[in-house]
Amino acid sequence: MNKPTTPPPAANFIRNIIEADLAAGKHATRRWGGRPGLATVHAAGQPDQAKIRTRFPPEPNGYLHFGHAKSICLNFGLARQYEGRCHLRFDDTNPEKEEAEYVQSIIDAVRWLGFDWQNETENNLYYASDYFDAMLACAEYLISAGHAYVDSQTADEMRVKRGTLTEPGKNSPYRDRPAAESMELFRRMQAGEFPDGAHVLRAKVDMASPNINMRDPAIYRIRHAAHHNTGERFCVYPMYTFAHPIEDALENITHSICTLEFEDQRPFYDWLLERLAEGGLLLRPLPYQYEFSRLNLTYVVLSKRKLIQLVEEGHVCGWDDPRMPTLVGARRRGYAPEGFKLMMERIGISKSDSLIDYSLLEDCMREVMNDLDERRVAVLDPIKLIITNYPEGKTETCHAPNHPLKPELGKRELPFSRELWIEREDFREIPEKGYHRLYPGGLARLRHAYVARCVGCEKDENGKVTAVLCEYLPETRSGTPGADSVKVKGTLHWLSIAHAHAAEIRLYDRLFKTTAPGAESGDFLADLNPDSCRTLNAWLEPSLQDARPEERFQFERHGYFAVDSDSRPTAPVFNRAVSLRDSWGKSG
Ligand code: ATP
Ligand code: MG
Repeated sequence: MNKPTTPPPAANFIRNIIEADLAAGKHATRRWGGRPGLATVHAAGQPDQAKIRTRFPPEPNGYLHFGHAKSICLNFGLARQYEGRCHLRFDDTNPEKEEAEYVQSIIDAVRWLGFDWQNETENNLYYASDYFDAMLACAEYLISAGHAYVDSQTADEMRVKRGTLTEPGKNSPYRDRPAAESMELFRRMQAGEFPDGAHVLRAKVDMASPNINMRDPAIYRIRHAAHHNTGERFCVYPMYTFAHPIEDALENITHSICTLEFEDQRPFYDWLLERLAEGGLLLRPLPYQYEFSRLNLTYVVLSKRKLIQLVEEGHVCGWDDPRMPTLVGARRRGYAPEGFKLMMERIGISKSDSLIDYSLLEDCMREVMNDLDERRVAVLDPIKLIITNYPEGKTETCHAPNHPLKPELGKRELPFSRELWIEREDFREIPEKGYHRLYPGGLARLRHAYVARCVGCEKDENGKVTAVLCEYLPETRSGTPGADSVKVKGTLHWLSIAHAHAAEIRLYDRLFKTTAPGAESGDFLADLNPDSCRTLNAWLEPSLQDARPEERFQFERHGYFAVDSDSRPTAPVFNRAVSLRDSWGKSG
């Protein structure tokens, strides 16, 4: 069995940049005011103890998915590797979209992945909406310095004048309005004197820029809407393109790492922070943005909009449905956080788009679970085995190691008796060539117990096998000198019928039938796999009686299973997180 490999961190372009920055002392002069803030806050602080600062900035408008896990592992992982800090920042500047329910689930998901934003001296959990006052100060500075103006055109007029990829834009007639007039209008916008859309504040950059994002982007808009944090205090809200660089700067972020769709925003990111540093609102060195390609996985969708649709239209039974590519879904299904970290390290970071095969995630899960999980016995498709030469009413205790590679984890007891459950596939009336389990006249080992010789079977009136009959060889008990006296090729698992307990088992298949859902049909819902969940009634070994939700085990020969959140002591439910690579015989 392979040990899970924790390879030394592989080089990638972001690590290279950070290492070069550290070597050059690029961020060494930064001061940290103990909390996010403008230049005055940090200037009054101490030299920043964090060698780098990164952030994970989710919008609290949905549950996190596997794509977010890439960003979390990257940002928190870099901070950990380079003696830095990673901030968890809720990007809640949009008044209408955020919901408090998502905040807690995001906190839980980041912790579950094994990361933290808190240490003895710092608690770096932030809400961008706490920066609204600082953002307004930045906006007013831009107006006073002639870098921003209030535009009173309609949205349509602005759109027409924005130009296209091939044509430059045209200046707004309000572009040269005096700073004092813009300031007065912006103050009145803040005071609530105008309806939504009457004016916007725009940065004054370059309407002829080949980059459309530099053509005087809107930075503040009027929105008469209550905000979950600031309530009715504001009726102007910053646009993402303005808010995000400022959030980074206030938090002293050194490396602001985002996905490639923000690449075209970088020139404005730099322009804005330069202007604010010139004006003394921000201290240098400024944060810098780096982009990497998003995670795309086969057989799933990783878009909040599509995930919301799956939940709201009832195609799955909630955000935490074990088939969902959400982190709550993964957790309920039994995926290991360590498996995500291993996968993210394996796929690395780059700037080229790629589609990662879902099986890579499953392989990483198997690899870490094989190392982490204790072994247990479950019979999923039971048939009765009667040991005809074993005394009725007798019980013996066999011992099975909890983990074949970790003797320190000890052994558990498996009661053995005359009537056992075995898997239906472990018996053949007429064996095919190479079949080494039970068939009339054949020998196989009942794992951790005895070698048994099959002497026949019982059938019902339809000819269906209802019980397999065996004789055991008493001298072959595992762990005794006679254990090897009879050589057999097949080994099978079993449970004493009198001691086994029943459980519901849920086996999952891909949620979608196609590698790129919707790519061909145009409708991702049309590609849903109708057979993505199958339920079985199975038998479990006695020691599983006390298993609690989220506990996970390897069921020998079947895969890795976790106790579902629906599970009750009287009605246990287990999810299969992932099957074993091979269907049987190599489970350790
Ligand atoms: P979606 O596109 O699914 O709606 P989002 O980008 O709107 O996601 P945010 O809450 O804004 O979601 O994302 C928080 C962070 O997670 C951002 O930095 C974003 O770049 C990153 N992120 C989102 N999806 C992916 C992905 N598929 N791969 C890598 N990082 C991602
Ligand atoms: Mg987003």
